[in-house]
Amino acid sequence: MENNLTINHYQYLVIGGGLAGCLFAFQLYKNNKSFLMFDPNHNHTSSKIAAGMFNPISGKRMSINWKVNELLAELATTFKELEQQLNRCFIIHEPIQQIFGNNKEANDFGSRKEDENFKKFITDTPLCEPNLIAPNGCFEVGQGGWVDTRKFIESYTNFLLQNNKLLQEELTYEQLVQTEKNWQYKSNTFNCVICCDGYQAIHNSLLNWLPFKLCKGELLLIHCPGLNAKKIVKKGVYLVNLGNDLYKAGATYEWDNINENYTEKGKLFLIEKLESLLNLPFKVVEQYAGVRPTTRDRNAILGAHPQVKNFYIFNGLGTKGVLQAPFLARQLFEHIELQKDLDKEIDIKRFYSCYPTT
Ligand SMILES: Cc1cc2nc3c(=O)[nH]c(=O)nc-3n(C[C@H](O)[C@H](O)[C@H](O)COP(=O)(O)OP(=O)(O)OC[C@H]3O[C@@H](n4cnc5c(N)ncnc54)[C@H](O)[C@@H]3O)c2cc1C
Repeated sequence: MENNLTINHYQYLVIGGGLAGCLFAFQLYKNNKSFLMFDPNHNHTSSKIAAGMFNPISGKRMSINWKVNELLAELATTFKELEQQLNRCFIIHEPIQQIFGNNKEANDFGSRKEDENFKKFITDTPLCEPNLIAPNGCFEVGQGGWVDTRKFIESYTNFLLQNNKLLQEELTYEQLVQTEKNWQYKSNTFNCVICCDGYQAIHNSLLNWLPFKLCKGELLLIHCPGLNAKKIVKKGVYLVNLGNDLYKAGATYEWDNINENYTEKGKLFLIEKLESLLNLPFKVVEQYAGVRPTTRDRNAILGAHPQVKNFYIFNGLGTKGVLQAPFLARQLFEHIELQKDLDKEIDIKRFYSCYPTT
């Protein structure tokens, strides 16, 4: 019997169109590689609901991020290129004003601020934004800002769709088969698979041995007329000004009960934090919940599967997807195409010993 199935061949299959998948696809596009992405276009993925902030300094200990200068530089150039390509604005460079919650925080900062590396990113006596409760003062982090991640993901996936590089459907792993030379999925063949499926990797039999430690997060969209914050503000909760008196306020960090449902508990927690920050009334307009693909050592996971050939992972972006994804996407691309080493902190090899051998 005649087989009239047309087989399309691509160099890359990209599974997942969040920050990881889209920024890897951007590398492929720039370097003229043929590829096809699969993503079901769900509305509440981590990448779509994220506040999108990037901050060179993180955590209670106010540590400077790993490779911060390289990450910030790659983030800025990548989004500049994307903005030109798609003719839209995605990135907003804005200082982050950190308000001390109590005297101890102010004192801890006092002992930290003489550190030469830390000093490069901070201003220590800024004027606090008006209409905020800030009796203990604040400091400001420069070189921060936020990316409108939903706008970016929607614009980029639309672009891929128009260029026949995206199928808006979930890929079923049972139908992805490795042949002698290639990977095959339905009527398409590929040299290589890049798996960017976010937290759903825990349901993926090729990847569920990796030490993910997922973290659910909830956010509110609030309406707060009169606030007019010119900067990102943080005090137990952060506020990102979206314009038109609307702010994203987040977030919660929940390490148990991992699901995508928002809760009354999450909402009340965030409202309480907002009440200790804002001198103005506000209204909750919407609530979101998502799951951050966080790992046990809090670092991303990139590189080749220990046994399955031509199968790569780009995951574990955790709480810092925006800052890390552009740099890591290029690093993974150059690892595959130019055999450059991955940084050991994010190389999947650190977990090869976890791979079940039986
Ligand atoms: C409340 C909250 C606030 C956050 N705020 C920030 C912030 O301010 N700054 C920051 O840097 N980070 C933030 N993050 C984290 C950030 O969202 C993540 O680091 C990042 O978005 C993860 O991107 P990803 O592409 O790995 O995963 P995802 O965004 O989850 O994308 C994975 C994609 O793969 C698709 N997929 C899964 N399985 C399949 C399959 N079988 N076939 C096809 N497609 C599939 C999914 O549908 C999804 O579209 C926040 C997260 C949350 C939850």
